Amino acid sequence: MSEQTIALVTGANKGIGYEIAAGLGALGWRVGVGARNEERREAAVTKLRETGVDAFGVPLDVTDDASVDAAVALIEGRAGRLDVLVNNAGITGSAPQMPTTVDPATVRAAVETNVIGVIRVTNAMLPLLRRSASPRIVNMSSSVGSLTLQSAPGAEMGPISVAYSPSKSFLNAVTVQYVRELRDTNILINAACPGFCATDLNDFRGVRTPAQGAAIAIRLAALPDDGPTGRFFDDAGEVPW
Ligand code: NAP
Repeated sequence: MSEQTIALVTGANKGIGYEIAAGLGALGWRVGVGARNEERREAAVTKLRETGVDAFGVPLDVTDDASVDAAVALIEGRAGRLDVLVNNAGITGSAPQMPTTVDPATVRAAVETNVIGVIRVTNAMLPLLRRSASPRIVNMSSSVGSLTLQSAPGAEMGPISVAYSPSKSFLNAVTVQYVRELRDTNILINAACPGFCATDLNDFRGVRTPAQGAAIAIRLAALPDDGPTGRFFDDAGEVPW
């Protein structure tokens, strides 16, 4: 019998992250539910277990070194390795986000979670990922981070945002640099766009369900060994960087 795949999903207590955890669990994987709030984390773990998912809680604030180090120790103790990391946790940052009037602290906060948080978690988890036979990293980005799409003449890419959208462009750029450094390893690293999903992030204005948004991340988490790396996908196919 093959070994059970071990995954960690950050920001998995609700929204798209919860559905990614549910979807990976439905594959028979053991899923770490990364979340900073204890009550919401344990509620998610309980709900996932009730649906048959082999879920365990991982206290995790992606902006906090000590929290991330403790998450590594917890996963190492429980599983000894990590096969799949889904960097899903994200924030939009507060409004307004017009470039000419924004509070720089809003930009800093978005970058701290959406970019530096991903770097912090990825680097901390890399030693565990390197122990996997088929490691995968999925970075939850957004098409609003695509400079190609944002700058296309006449493109309608949502509200002007100088914090959230550029934080996802930055995440895309960071993803490409990881791919370059880890090119000669077996780690497949891709970015995903879930589409516009109804979650807390947008006051439930999205038109897709969180489960629909989770599907692309689940697909990239479960790529075969000869699957793509260094690319950006949504449900419809490849998204331009
Ligand atoms: P959500 O419902 O607001 O969920 C965001 C998750 O991230 C929550 O679990 C939240 O935890 C967690 N989180 C935020 N900061 C964190 C931190 N410092 N440490 C740990 N966890 C943290 O939003 P969502 O729509 O599911 O978004 C999930 C991802 O998809 C994000 O990266 C988002 O940018 C991306 N995305 C969403 C859409 C969309 O239409 N919804 C579109 C494109 C991309 P708390 O409960 O503790 O706040």
